[in-house]
Amino acid sequence: MNSIEHLEEIFAHFPGIGPRQAKRFAYFVLSRPKSFIDDLVRTIADVRGKVHECDKCRRIYISDSPSESCGICTDKSRDETTLMIVPRDTDLLNVEASGVFKGLYFVLGGTIPILEKEPERRIRLKELLNYVGKRNFDEIIISLNATPEGDHTQTIICEAFKNINTKSRISRLGRGLSTGSEIEYADPETLRSALRGRS
Ligand SMILES: [Zn+2]
Repeated sequence: MNSIEHLEEIFAHFPGIGPRQAKRFAYFVLSRPKSFIDDLVRTIADVRGKVHECDKCRRIYISDSPSESCGICTDKSRDETTLMIVPRDTDLLNVEASGVFKGLYFVLGGTIPILEKEPERRIRLKELLNYVGKRNFDEIIISLNATPEGDHTQTIICEAFKNINTKSRISRLGRGLSTGSEIEYADPETLRSALRGRS
């Protein structure tokens, strides 16, 4: 494999990017002036050095001074009695930007494909149970995408919660989120009505 093919392979790992787009990305980058490439390389290296994973919600956050927990988890003004479980960092960011939720979060790191035999390989189930087991949340809102994979993941999480006998009320987003909807792209009004209609 030559260097260009290697670059294409790297881009092909990006979410939603297929081999043809990866090739276009690679040739686009290589056609840019040296200053562009230097800036890209420097920015990635710089960000990488400042990235941390929160020990509570598990989200990725940027900070110059490393601390164990992120700004949301350490914010005393937030409602610490309510936890929202979301699939990915980008879902958290969208809910957060909508301003409709003021509690705490947990980022699963994905969802579980229907045929997956080992769910723990796909999501942070152990970490979630550990976190929920240590805290007495009044309510845990499972906010997954309205897709078969989201429903499947929700079923597995609910089963796992039964095993640890959590006292928290478990709820799920309401119908406001129509079938096929993804949290990441839902607008604030949709999120608000899904949250209001939770059951
Ligand atoms: Zn956090």
